[in-house]
Amino acid sequence: MRIGIIAILSVILASCGGKSTETESVSKADTQQTYNWKLVTTWPKNYPGLGTAPENFAKKVEAMSGGRLKIKVFGAGQLVPAFEVFDAVAQGTAQVGHGAAYYWTGKSKATSLFTAVPFGLNAQEMNGWLHYGGGLELWRELYAPFNLVPFAGGSTGVQMAGWFNREINSMEDIKGLKMRIPGLGGDVISRAGGVSVTIPGGELYTSMQTGVIDATEWVGPYNDLAFGFHQVAKYYYYPGWHEPGPILEFIINKDAYATLPADLQAIVEGATRAVNQDMLDEYTARNNRALVELVETHGVDVRKLPDDVLIELRRLSAEVIEEVSQDSEIAGRITESVMAFRKQAMDYHAISEEAFYDARKVK
Ligand code: CA
Repeated sequence: MRIGIIAILSVILASCGGKSTETESVSKADTQQTYNWKLVTTWPKNYPGLGTAPENFAKKVEAMSGGRLKIKVFGAGQLVPAFEVFDAVAQGTAQVGHGAAYYWTGKSKATSLFTAVPFGLNAQEMNGWLHYGGGLELWRELYAPFNLVPFAGGSTGVQMAGWFNREINSMEDIKGLKMRIPGLGGDVISRAGGVSVTIPGGELYTSMQTGVIDATEWVGPYNDLAFGFHQVAKYYYYPGWHEPGPILEFIINKDAYATLPADLQAIVEGATRAVNQDMLDEYTARNNRALVELVETHGVDVRKLPDDVLIELRRLSAEVIEEVSQDSEIAGRITESVMAFRKQAMDYHAISEEAFYDARKVK
């Protein structure tokens, strides 16, 4: 028995020794090498929260790598238009992109599931599913044929239902409504008889002002105040049934990522995780304040969508999700995974998060 233990120990020692020598020789060679990357986004340059996240990412990576990996950030339209970010990174025009997966439904319907599932997961649950529930592995499998490696890139928390120039008192009011609402939420609005369109954030104010659209969802008080939607819309509805905890994305060109030495890859991954959490922290702090300003300074009319409208939207959402699951074999697996996670999360959160929110309000 003693001989057996010694044999095992020596195997372990040998393998450790081999590994560390190898790592040392790789890192010695690679510390000489510097990398200059480009990062393209779907947001206006330095736009609060969404646009500052990729700037923070670039700063963190440069600082942590001691300047070995420098990343220059381009806002929407500076290097490529907002909706060409996916192709630009896939083709290597830029090495990194920051945006939202549901802008790429033209590549695969299933991309939407990695931004938001209507009536699906909140931000906390999305992060749990992606990082500990198998979600990220499925996302990487979905993006692999496009030569891209995705990472979670921040969350805004529960969004608002949006800005409307029409009162929503029943499902009848959604018929003929022209609304900017991407992803599966847009499919639900279309199914309800509305017309859903996808327009980049930077064009929304003018689209509302000129009446090209009757309504738009965007994010929540912090970002909506920055775009000034209160100047061009009458009603601000909640809750964001369509984006209960949307996750943004960093996408990295697979070949570019593969050329990085292991320590720089770890820095890139660590920086995405840090920025992902940081964005949620920022929105959690700033949405509250911005809502007060919208209501008290700008007199915004904040309204809740009627319960019967929400119930019907939820029914239509289930149909849309079922349709996505039929779109491809992988869409079926992703849908199954996210919906199973939702069931589990709902069961536990009924007696944890929800019960606590209720308890906090008890008078
Ligand atoms: Ca949104």
